Amino acid sequence: MTPSETMTTEFLISIKPSERSFTSGTGETLLAAAIRQGVALPYGCKDGACGSCKCRKLSGLVQHGEHQSKALSDEEEAAGMVLTCCAVALSDMVLESRQVTQTGSFPVKKMPARLIELERKSADVMLLRLQLPTNESFSYHAGQYLDFMLPNGLRRSYSMASAAAPLPGATLELHIRHLIGGVFTDRVFGAMKEKEILRLEGPFGSFYLREDSNKPIVLLASGTGFAPIKAILEYLQLKSITRPATLYWGGRRPQDLYLDDWVRSKLDEMPQLRYVPVVSDALPEDQWSGRSGFVHLAVLQDMPDLSAYQVYACGVPIMVESAQRDFAQAGLPPEEFYADAFTSESDKLTKATP
Ligand SMILES: Cc1cc2nc3c(=O)[nH]c(=O)nc-3n(C[C@H](O)[C@H](O)[C@H](O)COP(=O)(O)OP(=O)(O)OC[C@H]3O[C@@H](n4cnc5c(N)ncnc54)[C@H](O)[C@@H]3O)c2cc1C
Repeated sequence: MTPSETMTTEFLISIKPSERSFTSGTGETLLAAAIRQGVALPYGCKDGACGSCKCRKLSGLVQHGEHQSKALSDEEEAAGMVLTCCAVALSDMVLESRQVTQTGSFPVKKMPARLIELERKSADVMLLRLQLPTNESFSYHAGQYLDFMLPNGLRRSYSMASAAAPLPGATLELHIRHLIGGVFTDRVFGAMKEKEILRLEGPFGSFYLREDSNKPIVLLASGTGFAPIKAILEYLQLKSITRPATLYWGGRRPQDLYLDDWVRSKLDEMPQLRYVPVVSDALPEDQWSGRSGFVHLAVLQDMPDLSAYQVYACGVPIMVESAQRDFAQAGLPPEEFYADAFTSESDKLTKATP
């Protein structure tokens, strides 16, 4: 085969058990090809750090690019697991991903958005409201995220905190936590002003409610991991979905649960909703009398057998990883664990070579 023939090779990637398929060209990651063709493979960071896109290879050949060993270990790779965000196909392939459904994904668009509100919700959380252009629609599944496109090719991801806003000119809500020294969040908590125009791309992500199930839901959030969970709660209410849902929201101190009042107001409107706030490091002056400790452990205390549940977990990577590991021990089927880990640049520093 000549080099020019190699350049144009396209492979057919089939997904079991949904029977969906897409093609992948040379050099393009499996995930990029799937997103481009509207096949909703699961994923999170898109950068080999979080492991959310891991799925099983049933046949075919891949080559992995740079990724972290905690996202895909050598043993997992040898056992046929694939990290689709950094793997390219070397042949036709069959992958198994039980999270892929027949539902297509919404088109990914780039557009400007005007910042119309910056509201401080706690010492380190800012609520941003963005106005979309009046001639553009932006459809998404509640729970998905967008990327801000920053100077020098940088991108930062943030989850929409409101249920879908499909009409042109709609507003989007985001919840952003300040990471001191962070490229983007230093600006959000410093020089950023209302009326500023930001460029965004989206929607992305596979963290959204699966409506083909009636299982009771556990919603698990740490810090601003509450943002996509809030969108899902709004969606449940909007669509009158009455599946039992229990929200466990964890923070270090009570003020980290920056929309506690909002959640409590929903308890009256949504009889199927239960709410368990959990605080890990309360100080005496907080006078905290509620649940204490790690938020995912509170779930296990209340539900030692998770075999009949569906879980949606979002927040810092350590919480998401611990929940995935410990919930599997408590009988949660692996395909019933949906998650977005808020990986940042500091989580990506320890890349393994392929
Ligand atoms: C799918 C997804 C959805 C997300 N949704 C949200 C959301 O809704 N809300 C939210 O608050 N966050 C969210 N995040 C996290 C968000 O994308 C950013 O990672 C976060 O806001 C930090 O961005 P930053 O530019 O301020 O910090 P970065 O520049 O990425 O830096 C992050 C931290 O690492 C440190 N750091 C950077 N480089 C180095 C280095 N070389 N050595 C040592 N330390 C370093 C910085 O000082 C800082 O503290 C999400 C992430 C993902 C992947």
